[in-house]
Formats: sequence, structure tokens, C-alpha cells
Amino acid sequence: MESNLSEKTVLVTGASRGIGRAIAERFAEAGARVILHYNKNNIAAEETLAALPGSEHALIQADISDPEAVCEMVDILNKEQGRIDILVNNAGIYEEADLLEFSYEEFREYFSNTINTNLVGVANLSFLISKEMVFHGGGKIINISSRGAFRGEPFALPYGASKAGLNSLGQSMAVALASKNIYVYTIAPGFVETDMTTDILEGPRGDAIRNQSPLHRVARPEEIANTAIFLASEDKGYMTGCIIDINGASYLRS
Ligand code: NAP
Repeated sequence: MESNLSEKTVLVTGASRGIGRAIAERFAEAGARVILHYNKNNIAAEETLAALPGSEHALIQADISDPEAVCEMVDILNKEQGRIDILVNNAGIYEEADLLEFSYEEFREYFSNTINTNLVGVANLSFLISKEMVFHGGGKIINISSRGAFRGEPFALPYGASKAGLNSLGQSMAVALASKNIYVYTIAPGFVETDMTTDILEGPRGDAIRNQSPLHRVARPEEIANTAIFLASEDKGYMTGCIIDINGASYLRS
């Protein structure tokens, strides 16, 4: 059944490219008004906006790792965009590093950069938006986590830690906010074809990564977007607190 989100406004973070762009496109196709968030890539964000069906969509910029910038963004949203029904926390970074090459100072900067973007930034934004959702009578929050939370990330330690923290954050918020009619869902993809993974998938590790799945491929952004639409559609409330794997059976857990 085709989803109808025509009365809804959705804020998608990191929607200039990749998974966020696919999510923004699917929400717009389903009739939602989309607020596209981006950080540095204004041209890509403008292109994404221009390609969306419908005319009520909007752009907003903020570095999600900067607590003040997140607060200023939410102030602008409250003044200019009104009620946000659905928040998709998609923005994130993945940085590989050889830890043994780092000084202690470099390690701390590397670790905090990822944690401040993928976990603290998401927590700050979710806190501020959920307060508005309470005021407006409810809403939905969809977090884009990662298989790395479960499987580990030996090439990107802080990434795996940030996504494990994000899983816990989403579960706890689901419990804390259920009585306020706010539902929180987490999607945990394996590798997805985006800018984030191009170098890895086209490099010497590419075939081994594709063959982690019995489907011998990685995910496409649209496959993550379709799940976000499913969760945003009506009557998914009892799924709150769930973590949905989209990893082509490349990592099984029970
Ligand atoms: P991507 O193509 O690299 O796009 C990342 C997006 O996040 C961009 O829109 C970027 O904005 C935004 N962003 C990055 N740092 C930001 C910051 N400090 N403040 C605000 N926005 C920021 O990544 P992707 O592959 O689509 O990944 C999207 C999400 O899926 C991430 O949370 C990622 O961890 C997760 N995920 C990805 C994969 C994968 O294999 N690709 C697998 C599992 C989970 P600008 O373009 O403006 O810089």
C-alpha cells in the first residue's frame, strides 16, 4: 500500500546526499513536507531540494556537532516552519584511522569528532525537537544507526561506539517519551552505496564486503528510505524502541 504522509512535516538531517537524500525523496513522494538539513554541501542540498516533488519544502543548515548551532537551528525551525511531526536523525560521519599512528591528543580529537556528530549531536537535536513534539501532542523519531554497533568497527572505533550509543539513546527515549505520544525507531544498515563508502567499496576490501551478504551486494539508499517511510506511516506505534537490521543477512543477531 502506498504511504500517505500529506499532512506531515519531516526534518531529515544530512539530506544533501546519500541515504538522507533518498529518505527526503521518498517522504516527498509520499506527500510530506520535507525540511532538508545539511552541513557543508549547500550545492548538493539545493539540488536535492530542487528535485523533490512538491513545493513546500525547505532547507536548513547546521553543524550538528556544534551544540549552539543545533539550538539556533531549532529556534529558526520553530519560528519559520512550525510543527515537526517526524525527525529523521540521519546525518553522520565515518572516519577510518590507524590508531597506532596517533598521538594521545590526535586520538582524543578523532574520537570526540565522531561522538560529537553521531551521538551527542543527535541527542541534542532529539532533546530539543522532542520538547516541541510534546508541546504539539506527539511525533516520531527515526535514528539511522549501523550494523557496526553490533559487529564492531575495527577501522573506525568511535563510529561503532557512537552507533551503539545511538541504539541505547533511541531505546531509552522510546521508553521515556511513550506517554507523550512520541515513538522512537532505529534502523541499523550494513554497508550502503553512498559517498561515505565509495572509496572502501571500490577498493581492495570491496568484494569481501559485498560477499559478507549471501546477496553478494551492499544496500542501496532507497532500501533504507523505504524502511523509514514504513516506520513513519500510521499504526507503527507498538514497534517503538525497535532496532531494524537492513544488512542483507551479513550479520545475524537474535
Ligand atoms: P554521506 O553520503 O557521507 O552523507 C552524510 C550526510 O551527513 C551529509 O548530508 C552531510 O552533510 C551530513 N553531515 C555530516 N557531518 C555533519 C555535521 N557535522 N553536521 C551536519 N550534517 C553533517 O553518508 P551516508 O552514507 O548517506 O550516511 C547517512 C547515515 O547512515 C549516517 O548516519 C551513517 O552513519 C549511516 N550509515 C551509513 C552506512 C553506509 O554504508 N553508507 C551504513 C550504515 C549506516 P553535508 O553533505 O552538507 O556535509
